[in-house]
Parts: sequence; C-alpha cells; structure tokens
Amino acid sequence: MANAAKQGTVFKGGAYLETIDTVKAIAFDKTGTLTIGRPAVTDVVTFDDLTGDELLDLAACIESWSGHPLAAAIVRKARESGTFSGRPAVQFEETAGRGVAATVDGQACRIGSPRAMLEQGIDIGHAEETIARNEGEGRTVVLVSRDGTLAGLVAIADEVRPGAVEALQRLRRAGVRTVMLTGDNERSARVIAQRVGVDEYRAQLLPTDKVDVVRQLRERYGAVAMVGDGINDSPALAQSHLGIVMGSGTDIAIESGQIVIMNNRLSRLLALFELSKKSIKKIHHNFSYAFAYNLVGIPIAAGLFIPYNLSLRPEMAALAMSLSSVSIVLNSLSLRRFRPNLSPSKFIS
Ligand code: ADP
Ligand code: MG
Repeated sequence: MANAAKQGTVFKGGAYLETIDTVKAIAFDKTGTLTIGRPAVTDVVTFDDLTGDELLDLAACIESWSGHPLAAAIVRKARESGTFSGRPAVQFEETAGRGVAATVDGQACRIGSPRAMLEQGIDIGHAEETIARNEGEGRTVVLVSRDGTLAGLVAIADEVRPGAVEALQRLRRAGVRTVMLTGDNERSARVIAQRVGVDEYRAQLLPTDKVDVVRQLRERYGAVAMVGDGINDSPALAQSHLGIVMGSGTDIAIESGQIVIMNNRLSRLLALFELSKKSIKKIHHNFSYAFAYNLVGIPIAAGLFIPYNLSLRPEMAALAMSLSSVSIVLNSLSLRRFRPNLSPSKFIS
C-alpha cells in the first residue's frame, strides 16, 4: 500500500490489493475516466429566433446550477465568449443521465440528451441530421428546448485521456476484458470506444442501467472492477467487486470506491495488477518460509533434540522466535522498493 501511495494510488484496505489479481473484467465509465472529462463546446446551432449567443447564454444560466462536466463546458463557453448574463433560473431540476430543466424569464426550458427530449414529447425531427453529424464525430449533443419546442443544440467534445489507449491495450493483452459504459448516445460512444480500443461498449445507460450491466458482467466474468469518477456512476462503483475511482472524481465516488487513483493516470491500473501479483507471491513466500523455519526451530527450542546435544537456551529461543517475525517483516518491506515492470511481455504471466 505504501508503494502504491508513492505512485499516487490510495487503498482503503490491504485486502483490495489481493482482490485486484482476481479481476477478469474492468468496466470503465466514459466521461471523465476514458476521456479527460473537461469537455468543450464545439458548435451551437439554433432552430428558432434566438441567436447562437442567446441560446448559449440561456443554456449557461440553467447549467450554472448543475455539477455535470457538460454543464461546466456550456458555462465556460458562455463566459469566455462574454455572452453570459447570469439571469436567474428558477425551479431547477436535474435528472441523472438525462439532463436538466428550469424556468428562465417565465419560460420552461430543458437541456438534455436527444433521447430525454423525445421522452418529453418534444419534436426533434429537424435536428436529426445535425445531431447525427456531430455524434458521428464522437461528440455529445445536448438539445435545448423552450416551452416544449426545440430551440437549438450544443455540440460538446471531450478528448480521450492521454495514455488511455496504451493502458487498455496492455490490460487486454493481459487477458482482462475491457468494457466502456456511458450515458452518452450510441453513435459517439461507438466512435470513442474505437478510439480508445475497448473490447465492448454499452451506450445510453442511465445510472441504474450501469448497475445492471456491472451485475451482468459479474455473472459472465466473475470478479469485476469498475473505474469511474462518480458522476452518475457511484451506484455501479458500489456494485462491482472493486471500485476504482479517479481522484478528480466526486466525493461520493471517493467514498464508495476502494481504490483512488489520485493522479488520474490510467497506466496506474496496470501497475496495480503487477503490485498485486507481487504482493501475493510475497505472502506465499513468507508463509512457506515461516512454516519451514518453525517446523525446525520449535522442536529445537522445545528441547526435543536434547538427547542429541542440540538445544537452545531460553533467551536464544526467544531471539530466534523474534528473528522469524523480523525476517518476514523485512522481506515484506522490500515491496516498498518494488517498481512494476510494465513491459507487456513481462506482464503476461
Ligand atoms: P456518462 O455516462 O458519459 O458519464 P451521464 O450519465 O453523466 O454520461 O449523462 C448522460 C447524458 O445525459 C449526457 O450525454 C447528456 O446528454 C445528458 N445529460 C446529463 N446531465 C446533463 C446536464 N447537466 N446538461 C445537459 N445534458 C445532460
Ligand atoms: Mg461520468
């Protein structure tokens, strides 16, 4: 655990170090885990009399109440382009995995996924083409409606986290199944899944669906770890055998996970597998060594071999007993200096 801590990974208990080695599949949340989680607005399109800036401002006034990364992207963009008016948004409501609603200047507005809009009975037919084009680029499209009609859309792009491709490739080579889970739409999920190179992906998942998928994975693969940041994935983190949380994540996630990767580096995952294997090996070593040592030492200390002139004075016996503990502790402490060798050939064992 000290070794991992020096590399920026914090464990909530020693047992989890052993659990890692049994993991057969890892579910990754997309936003904030496989991607950087600092999405940026790339396009604003309007469908009524609002200008692009007005639409962005309207969206930002509402989203300033949300903690979602997409909301942050919209607010940041509005502030940067100097259009943010900060008008009050009242009766704010957020539905996890779907979007937000609020009333601004007496008009009931919604911001959310195309699916959420359809569920509200809002016609999005004329936006389909723009939606498809942006989603085909791996972007997330959120729609904005006013008084039940579609006012416009905001396309938001997030980048794949540096090192994610390599980390996933190595995990796959080590025989770990990788699955991406996201509440985002099918099309951009597919694009991002291809970019990072996961074995499978599931899109359009509500937070409760993520829990079901983790449960299915547990049935299929046995031990399953979930890596997330806690924005709409805390229940799934709690449902997995091992919840691994990105340090930039939410407080609930850090609370519900068992391992926290403080520096957000996905390459640490691989190192954890190595460290886990090494620690288990060390436990087995120590156990066999202590067993053999005591098998020989205790009968001598107990005086069984006195007839053969082989005995220990009590103080020497006590010293020998302590030596057994000390040697095991020292052997274990050598793990502190262990540096995982992450070259792929070595990793496959
Ligand atoms: P992910 O699984 O990728 O982390 P979420 O479950 O957080 O995604 O969100 C799923 C979808 O719900 C988003 O792609 C977006 O369309 C919509 N959504 C959620 N929260 C908001 C919000 N505050 N504003 C706009 N759209 C939102
Ligand atoms: Mg998320």
